[in-house]
Amino acid sequence: MTSLPMKTLRHKIIAIMVVATGLLALLNISIQAYVDYQQEMKQAEDNTLRHVRSLYYPISEALWDLDLRQLEQLLISVSKDSNIQNIQLKSTDGTMLDANVSEPLTSTTHSYDLRHHGRMLGTLSYQIDDSKIQEEVLSRLALGFLLNTLEALVIIAIVVVVVYSLVTKPLNELYTISKTINPQTSSKLKLPNSLTQRQDELSYVAKALQNLNNASRRAIAAQRRTERQLLHHQNQLEQSIEIQTKAYKTQSKLHRILADMSLNILTCSEDNMATVMYRAFEPIGRLLDIDRLSVLTIDDNIAHYRYSWRADGSKNPYLEGFNIGSMALLQRRLLSLEPIVINDIEFLKSQADSEYSMMKKLGIDSVAIFPLIDGKAIFGLLIASNIHGAHDWSDTQRAILSRLSTTVSEMHLRLRSQKEMTALQEELIEANQRLHIAAETDELTGLPNRRPFMSELEHHTHSLFVSSITTMMIDVDHFKQYNDLYGHVQGDFALRYVANTLKQVLVPCGHMVARIGGEEFCALLVNVSAQEAMTLAEKMRQEIISLNIPHSGNNPFNVLSISVGVAHQLAEEQLTTQQLLESADAALYRAKQNGRNQVQSEPSNLD
Ligand code: GH3
Ligand code: MG
Ligand code: MG
Repeated sequence: MTSLPMKTLRHKIIAIMVVATGLLALLNISIQAYVDYQQEMKQAEDNTLRHVRSLYYPISEALWDLDLRQLEQLLISVSKDSNIQNIQLKSTDGTMLDANVSEPLTSTTHSYDLRHHGRMLGTLSYQIDDSKIQEEVLSRLALGFLLNTLEALVIIAIVVVVVYSLVTKPLNELYTISKTINPQTSSKLKLPNSLTQRQDELSYVAKALQNLNNASRRAIAAQRRTERQLLHHQNQLEQSIEIQTKAYKTQSKLHRILADMSLNILTCSEDNMATVMYRAFEPIGRLLDIDRLSVLTIDDNIAHYRYSWRADGSKNPYLEGFNIGSMALLQRRLLSLEPIVINDIEFLKSQADSEYSMMKKLGIDSVAIFPLIDGKAIFGLLIASNIHGAHDWSDTQRAILSRLSTTVSEMHLRLRSQKEMTALQEELIEANQRLHIAAETDELTGLPNRRPFMSELEHHTHSLFVSSITTMMIDVDHFKQYNDLYGHVQGDFALRYVANTLKQVLVPCGHMVARIGGEEFCALLVNVSAQEAMTLAEKMRQEIISLNIPHSGNNPFNVLSISVGVAHQLAEEQLTTQQLLESADAALYRAKQNGRNQVQSEPSNLD
């Protein structure tokens, strides 16, 4: 057993008891000694006084008689009293008698006046000897001291024993027990009944210790509960963070896939649509843990599979599609343009027989259907399904599938508008071509007009592959008169005949003839010799005559004729288009001047 520290209560009590009992004993002994001394002195004085009084008359008579001898004997008799130390008789006449005078009398001396028959005879003085009294008192004092000391020691011993058994021992016990209190273990404190059921203040200490321990246990238990809760919360938080991080990563991947798909839509065509869908559907299906993803288009109540992805790689045995005409619930729900999510298709069994049997046929246990919307109308369905029992479709799955349906709709719209755009473009090209042809074609004759002729002429003038260029100016003779004679409409017919004839002569040989205005035509012959050119020109003139179109104003021929001006140009001469046309015009002028219906050339010696 571990003892308490040195300055224990026991030691303090002993020290206090020793000091207190010592002081009390001293006080007690001193008072006792004083009282004893006073009593002894009183008794000695009384005895002495009685003795002195008994000799009062003899002494007074002896003094009256001046019987000194008698006086002396009487004084000796008095002085023999054991209490008297000094005795002295002093008469009024100055006679002085002493007995046992060892020291001069002091003021403490007792005095008696001696009288005889009322006359003052003298004074008898004596001193009490207190040395013996002191000795006796002192001897009693020593005994008293001894007894007091013994008594004090006994009391101290009793107090020490009592204090030890009543205070020190239980306190030691409490101290020892208190050391077993361990906040880490929070074990239940077991105080002995001897401590808790006491009727004194120590029971308070014991109960206080018990209460303290209980409070400490409760506090530790509460703290542990709090720690457990905190740990639990921390674990939950970590799990939740982990789940959220995973969900965030998954969502981030899903959004990237959808973003990529949206980008691919821009370059998507009918041919690579399946590839674009596979690139998105496969990872989306795997990330969302979906067994099947399909896109169907609806045409006359028949839903046709356009694309289908299956996690197990199996083929869709119902690719021909199915009729949704009898699926009243599906149609009703689709009308709201909202997705249809059915966690367990058994739900459909009693409510929608057609839908239920179709799902069963496809082996689907749980389905989420998203309408594909073209503007405001539904043109198809995005169907996500699971085949391994009922499935609770999460918010993330719904949100991503909804976005996927929007993206597929956009893709559809994009392809449709792409088709429309292509058709429009083709139409536009055709229209442009038509416009172009119209712009470069003479409406009346169908021959090229001045613009393509000039452009062709310009082109050949600068071409390295051209060795010679021949231009011909062809003009109908007296055509004004023809109009005047036969009318403008007839004039138009005549012009068409002329144009057609010129074309038949030149175009089969790869040459160009154009109507450049009114009744004037121009021909362009490339890499043709002057002779060949002159021959063709002559041939044209004769063919027109051969038409035999009556023209009474064209004297002397009386039929429609043409005059031709030919300009032949070798490439090395490097003449401009303007110069070429001017030469041909000059030749034509000469043909007109020479009487019309003839061919003239520039230079004039070509043939
Ligand atoms: P020349 O022999 O000197 O060429 O005499 P011309 O009368 O032919 O010459 P001119 O230049 O004076 O007259 C040309 C005529 O051609 C005038 C116009 O009435 C006629 N003409 C021009 N374009 C057309 C057309 O498109 N249709 C018809 N019917 N006549 C046209
Ligand atoms: Mg003319
Ligand atoms: Mg003319």
